[in-house]
Amino acid sequence: MTRSGKEYLESLRDGRVIWLDGERVDDVTTHPAFRRSVQSISELYDMTHEPEFADALTVDHDGTKILRAHQIPRTKDELKAKGRAFKVWSEATFGFFGRSPDYMASAVAGFAAVPSVFQSDFDGSANILAHWERMATQDLYQAHTLVNPQIDRTKAPSQQEEDDLCLRVVQERGDGMVVRGAKMIGTAAAFADEMLVGVTQRMAPSEADYAVSFSVPVATPGIQFVSRTSYEGRATSVFDYPLSSRFDENDALVVFDDVFVPWERVFAYRDPVVCQEQFWKTPAFLSFVHHGAIRLWTKLEFMVGVAILVARANNTYDLPPVRMQIGKLMAWVNTAKAVAIAIEDGAEPMGAAMAPNREMSCAQLAIGPDLYPKVLAEIKLLAGGGLIQLPASYRDLQHPEVSKLLNKYVRSPGHDAESRIKLLKLAWDALGSEFAGRHDQYERFYHGSPHVYLPALVREGDPESYAALARRCLDGYGLEEL
Ligand SMILES: Cc1cc2nc3c(=O)[nH]c(=O)nc-3n(C[C@H](O)[C@H](O)[C@H](O)COP(=O)(O)OP(=O)(O)OC[C@H]3O[C@@H](n4cnc5c(N)ncnc54)[C@H](O)[C@@H]3O)c2cc1C
Repeated sequence: MTRSGKEYLESLRDGRVIWLDGERVDDVTTHPAFRRSVQSISELYDMTHEPEFADALTVDHDGTKILRAHQIPRTKDELKAKGRAFKVWSEATFGFFGRSPDYMASAVAGFAAVPSVFQSDFDGSANILAHWERMATQDLYQAHTLVNPQIDRTKAPSQQEEDDLCLRVVQERGDGMVVRGAKMIGTAAAFADEMLVGVTQRMAPSEADYAVSFSVPVATPGIQFVSRTSYEGRATSVFDYPLSSRFDENDALVVFDDVFVPWERVFAYRDPVVCQEQFWKTPAFLSFVHHGAIRLWTKLEFMVGVAILVARANNTYDLPPVRMQIGKLMAWVNTAKAVAIAIEDGAEPMGAAMAPNREMSCAQLAIGPDLYPKVLAEIKLLAGGGLIQLPASYRDLQHPEVSKLLNKYVRSPGHDAESRIKLLKLAWDALGSEFAGRHDQYERFYHGSPHVYLPALVREGDPESYAALARRCLDGYGLEEL
């Protein structure tokens, strides 16, 4: 049985240690920097019980309903059904929750599809299967943190200025291991039940202390989160910042200060190879990309929808150059959609699962970071200075004298001041606010850096077939054809 929103909210009051603006956050469900965004997540859980969405979002598992994202898809149809479930939650959050509970749920199902990958000197295969079963049947929300702090990217973890800047094993005990150090970012970790900690960086065998993979509850003693600025906390109202105030999924530095991890929670132990293969030789990373592709497609639909409303409000929609801009934007939405469809259509068997297509997933890694900044730039061009000519807050609309000025000068055909300001504030929050800047950076980096994902296209694709085609053309003529 999936959880209700209320049950989810109650689970967050567990003493987790979150620092924000030099203060400890007592309760994310009531704190002004987090409460509305957490509420938005709780509404996702409630949707799993609503007749309109329940069939799309849940599936039978041993006589109970689990979130469909937890399912190991055995057929292409089951993979596509997962995609439809991702779409439902993406639409509910307009694509702004990259790390909604379904993101990591799907990746854990990916691990469980090929448990043999976890069989090494340390055998984590039974642990990963038990973990998947627990996450699915208890409907737990898992975040993940994989990337070591940037500090010095030219040096391996053990060569940094101190031994435990990057998370590493500091003690092996009969009942588990103790880890110390940090991971760069855990998105939504402050709002999750558990956190998968791992590493995707390629490492030499000598870096084994840094090569662990495990999952722990976020309230485990010794774990602390140092949150970035809360855009929700800075949002003066929902009217002024409709996205920042409700869909700020949070990012935080994650610090582990001698955290004990029992063996049954460990999936890879002092093993750089398994740490890599858990993502690449299972459908886990491909499942990340599948979710990301559906979410990006939805987010672009939303952004282009905003662009259309802004152009109509400015009465420019029917001008031929603006039609061209909208047409270009719609073509980009359809590019994102086409990649999402191709990822599913080209599904390939992998272990017990039907996995998202690998080559198209690699293409998505490159296309997403390319498309999103282009969409932002095009809509800004289309919107003009109206995005800036906005009163500081809704209070101006409530003030008798200021509202007279706004009603006279901030309007357009078919739009009074309130509806025009409301629309343009939504557009600014999506395009230009600090929240919008974070999303620009998120779309560029959340699946890695270009120097990592672009070569992956060459590795996973078929460059020889392109070269062969060009070669056939070259071979078709010569000096004798002059
Ligand atoms: C908003 C946001 C949310 C995130 N959430 C999560 C999360 O929830 N969990 C998680 O694990 N991670 C998360 N990340 C981290 C993300 O996975 C990393 O940002 C990503 O892997 C890139 O690594 P990096 O930021 O360390 O960049 P780097 O690897 O330091 O690269 C930055 C730039 O430095 C240059 N560079 C660095 N190294 C090289 C090299 N070897 N060769 C050539 N050029 C190089 C390139 O110009 C590159 O673009 C998040 C990131 C962002 C921005």
